[in-house]
Amino acid sequence: MKLVCLACAAGVSLAAPASAELEPVFALNVSIAPTAEGAPVRSEDWVYERLDLAERVFSTMKVHFHIWHWRTLARDLARIEDPRERDRFASLVVPTEINVFVVESLRDNEVKDLYRMGVTWDSHTTPSARFIILSADCVRSSLAHELGHFMGIQPHSSVKNNLMGYDRDDALVFLDPAQQALVVARAYALRTSGALFTFGWFVQLMPHTADINGLRRSGGAVGTPQSFVKSSGQDPAPL
Ligand SMILES: [Zn+2]
Repeated sequence: MKLVCLACAAGVSLAAPASAELEPVFALNVSIAPTAEGAPVRSEDWVYERLDLAERVFSTMKVHFHIWHWRTLARDLARIEDPRERDRFASLVVPTEINVFVVESLRDNEVKDLYRMGVTWDSHTTPSARFIILSADCVRSSLAHELGHFMGIQPHSSVKNNLMGYDRDDALVFLDPAQQALVVARAYALRTSGALFTFGWFVQLMPHTADINGLRRSGGAVGTPQSFVKSSGQDPAPL
């Protein structure tokens, strides 16, 4: 894999310390459904608020996320009532990015009267398509929770404030060492297999990872993708 110094590419003269380390930044592709009136069900700032919390959790593992693309969904994808409707997102999945679909409502696939805040879904119709659906009613930590599933954590936790549990205070969520190990391994597999885009980021240039998204919002550049290898069409590893 060829590593590109983003500062050099941008014409900035900077001698990177010998200990300089590239931390992977995974690209998110966020699609937002419209309301019946045609406005987005939630704003970009609403998504960034959830992404900032995810950054706080995952940056401790040197894993980062950055919204690279925004899209608008058709209204007929705004209310997801059964699993077959979830599969309709599969055709919209961009294979090299983490696809997040923000909808108005998301009904549970087993308990009919239950509405979910989010789900990480493996398409039943397109085996390689894994994506995240977030409900407009989700809490601030829901995106981070689903990214936890996406990054390899399957079971839920009963420990208070564990990100993968349901008993939590959004401000204090954490992952335990075993969960962190799963994320690091999964991130490594996704990065080295080329299944997902990763941007490289010098820790020394931007030590506070939340600034990645702040920079994006202020119109700054985050550089070019560090690597891009077309997806094999398969999940790189079973979860
Ligand atoms: Zn979950």
